[in-house]
Amino acid sequence: MPLPVRDPILLTPGPLTTSLATKAAMLRDWGSWDAAFNAVTASMRGKLGQIVNAGDTHVCVPLQGSGTFAVEAAVNTLVPRDGHLLVLVNGAYGKRMARLAQMMGVRTSVFETAEDAPTTPADVERLLTADASITHVGLIHCETSTGIENPLAAIAAVIARHGRALIVDAMSSFGALPIDAQRIPFDALVAASGKCVEGPPGMGFVFVRRTVLEQAAGRSTSLAMDLHDQWVYMEKTTQWRFTPPTHVVVALDAALTQFADAGGQPARYARYRANCDTLLAGLGELGLVSFLPPAIQAPIIVTVHAPPDPRFAFKEFYERVRDRGFVLYPGKLTAVETFRVGCIGAITPADLRAAVHAMGDALDAMGVRDRAPRIGSAAPATVAA
Ligand SMILES: *Cc1c(COP(=O)(O)O)cnc(C)c1O
Repeated sequence: MPLPVRDPILLTPGPLTTSLATKAAMLRDWGSWDAAFNAVTASMRGKLGQIVNAGDTHVCVPLQGSGTFAVEAAVNTLVPRDGHLLVLVNGAYGKRMARLAQMMGVRTSVFETAEDAPTTPADVERLLTADASITHVGLIHCETSTGIENPLAAIAAVIARHGRALIVDAMSSFGALPIDAQRIPFDALVAASGKCVEGPPGMGFVFVRRTVLEQAAGRSTSLAMDLHDQWVYMEKTTQWRFTPPTHVVVALDAALTQFADAGGQPARYARYRANCDTLLAGLGELGLVSFLPPAIQAPIIVTVHAPPDPRFAFKEFYERVRDRGFVLYPGKLTAVETFRVGCIGAITPADLRAAVHAMGDALDAMGVRDRAPRIGSAAPATVAA
């Protein structure tokens, strides 16, 4: 088996392949009291805010940890004890948001559609009309377990019209898909360092409506997850409340400089779109079939049906493709056998083209000839309280 001579390219939904300049930014140690480091924190928060046009209405509160920590912190800080959260679910991350809310004792309802069916504004209209006790709605913008895009702007408009609050998990869409806080009404939008802004993993951040966060003092049932406290402390001292992920912060700040220099969100979208189109075309040439119809496929991650050929085994396929320099991702669907290929990170269509060749070589070496799935039908939508 050949020894890899350079790092493999990560075709995963995070951690992902970062640029050399971003990696190089991590070659220094910083003290958390150092004014120079705190200036980087301020710079990073400002750059993140610009990406969603946060203006004066929304503040950026960073939080140590993976993305889920920031989702949990947003729910814990913003939903009051007598609140009622409706989570719109069509995949694993929606289920995760519902679970973390339930675990903290928040009254939680779930509206679940099939993994290949976006939640619609009409669904949300009906649900909010039927239940006046719902105070908050949780939505996953791009459900990374399949790559499906839910219609954020249209759903946000319905929620605002009903006077309810929206908490968005935009983890895998932020930076790649357009999100404008001045046009899309939300109380909180959550993302993380190691996704489409192409930093290293280890830090989440939440854009919170300032007037809402000001009202949230003392609401959190968790010390470490209290976004209000984190925000107030950071505004007052310029420092992080607890040990900051210093290397992640400086590398993310470097990644955000590159993001802006390369043309910002529209340019990032265009590169990921080209990556995704190259991948989809290549999969077609290999005889593989993607799970989602193109209309609801975000250019973030592609779910691919596993070939039905008995010679196919994901573990062997994964290892063979990795030995050729590319790291794939397992599937996350319960009903059908799939694997996933990410389009995000500091990678280009040429990398995706090479990855398709690697997948083709691996399938040939395994003798996998029967590659197109026999596709069943999707499950209907269900509501559970
Ligand atoms: C990556 C991701 C998360 C966070 O996952 P972590 O493993 O905690 O970083 C949450 N939601 C979505 C949609 C994601 O893609």
